[in-house]
Amino acid sequence: MAGPSAAPAGGHSFSAAAGPLPPEVVDEVAQACRSWRGGGPVLSLPFTSEAFRELQHETQARLRRLLGIPPGYQVLFMQGGASAQFALVPLNLLGPDDAAAHMDTGHWSRRAAAEAARHARVVSLRHDALDPSAPSPDTAPVAYLHLTSNETADGWQWPRLPASPWPLVVDMSSDLLTREIDWTDLGLLYASAQKALGVPGLTLVVVRDELLGRARPSVPGVMNYTALAAADSRLNTPPVFAIFVAHAMLGWIERQGGVPAMAHTAARRSEAVYQALDASGGFYRPGVDPAWRSRINPCFGLADPALTPRFLEQARAAGLFDLQGHPDLGGLRVSLYNGTPEAAVSALMSFLRAFQRNHG
Ligand code: PMP
Repeated sequence: MAGPSAAPAGGHSFSAAAGPLPPEVVDEVAQACRSWRGGGPVLSLPFTSEAFRELQHETQARLRRLLGIPPGYQVLFMQGGASAQFALVPLNLLGPDDAAAHMDTGHWSRRAAAEAARHARVVSLRHDALDPSAPSPDTAPVAYLHLTSNETADGWQWPRLPASPWPLVVDMSSDLLTREIDWTDLGLLYASAQKALGVPGLTLVVVRDELLGRARPSVPGVMNYTALAAADSRLNTPPVFAIFVAHAMLGWIERQGGVPAMAHTAARRSEAVYQALDASGGFYRPGVDPAWRSRINPCFGLADPALTPRFLEQARAAGLFDLQGHPDLGGLRVSLYNGTPEAAVSALMSFLRAFQRNHG
């Protein structure tokens, strides 16, 4: 059976949908579910309490330190996932007649553009059809340029954010906290929490002050960036537990050496995987041009695609789960999130070699 599964205890999941949490983070969360900071369980911490405000402010401070967020940006905690932001970005940032430019680089950027097109005129740009460092501003009035920094489904990544004549709006759901961020042109960043920042339920939005104050009247009140910023993300009940897990995950990242350490690990692991694929004499087929390969979600196929079900079955027998590609794209995919243990990566490398030995 090739369908997705939850990896059993002792197995390793390479799912793209959610990142594993390091054991120290799991222990901290498990303990806090019973009692947190000498008080009651974090599971029922009221968002109106002083303790929650402290937790929220510490989480925001950790994000500001780790991501190097300069002054002049708001750090908002929202719900609805990155998918809700596909619509909330145009609804909050565009006037009635404005257009948005969208870089078309793969599955998730297309999903973002399709949703934005329900609310705005979308100008679609291809990263290879023009110099990405200088997209033409002729199509004005364009309010911002949207891009997906890492295409989770395609295994494609911007090696650095392009320079842009318009403020950049960047979906970093799958590579947040794995790369340093150049804030020069960045107007807004958003990310779901479940890959890099803990568990589902929290959506991070970091937005430049100058972009506030433009929301259309039709934006739901609790999804209005300006109102959220004024209310310190507590217009209604925030995702308290998911914020707690993010706080624990950010503490763990700081103890590992912060984003430079995470970036180094992502580079080392993905280079090892690509090296093994490239050295396979065509048995494994990485599909993406080396200049644009993702450091988080390497995607590949087999020279003989008919072997794919057997690859997945034998991988599971070796304790390696969820290596199937995105359902719309097929093939195989490895996801290397911050919480992925070293043991998972080395077991995968051995498996890649063994499978080729047995079937090559
Ligand atoms: N953008 C990217 C780059 C993603 O990888 C995903 C989820 N895989 C999403 C958006 C959608 O996230 P959510 O399901 O939290 O809305």
